[in-house]
Amino acid sequence: MMEAIEQCPVCGGTVERKSVTEVVCGGGNTVTLTLETLVCQVCSERFYNLSDVRKLEELKLKLERNETEDFQVVGQVFKVVL
Ligand SMILES: [Zn+2]
Repeated sequence: MMEAIEQCPVCGGTVERKSVTEVVCGGGNTVTLTLETLVCQVCSERFYNLSDVRKLEELKLKLERNETEDFQVVGQVFKVVL
């Protein structure tokens, strides 16, 4: 199911389908993914369809449960105290 948004409900700007990088964090783990979504050209607000929102929530849950076997390791996340 695809929502047809042509105008940004936030600022009224033009919305275009774009490939974006999303970062999902959970349980101290981080996963990045690229997905296509609608992005406002003016305020950069992203509008995900329901299935993408579910996928992102699922990823977050997996991270929280440390179910990261399916994920490809691409780097490390560091923490520093300044
Ligand atoms: Zn906007």
